[in-house]
Amino acid sequence: MDKLIDALLEYNGGDWGETAQDIDEIYRGLRLAPSLIFTYWQERCEGNDKCCFCGGDLKYMKEKEYRGEYLGVDTYEEITYGVCIECGEVF
Ligand SMILES: [Zn+2]
Repeated sequence: MDKLIDALLEYNGGDWGETAQDIDEIYRGLRLAPSLIFTYWQERCEGNDKCCFCGGDLKYMKEKEYRGEYLGVDTYEEITYGVCIECGEVF
């Protein structure tokens, strides 16, 4: 928590009033939806190709997934997924 408060104070240029408003906003948000901070973190990680569990870099892989037969021909769909190079988590 100290890290979070320090970061907010620094972000707000040492403005305690602004930081008090931010803390209040975070407190209300987390009280209504405790998982909200993780959802925001996941979105940020996705946008930066990072693993939301360990912060490692994601490596993207492509794979053809079988989608059944259509008019006698096997059909495949190319899917892309990310793999964390640190912990191996698949996204
Ligand atoms: Zn990871």
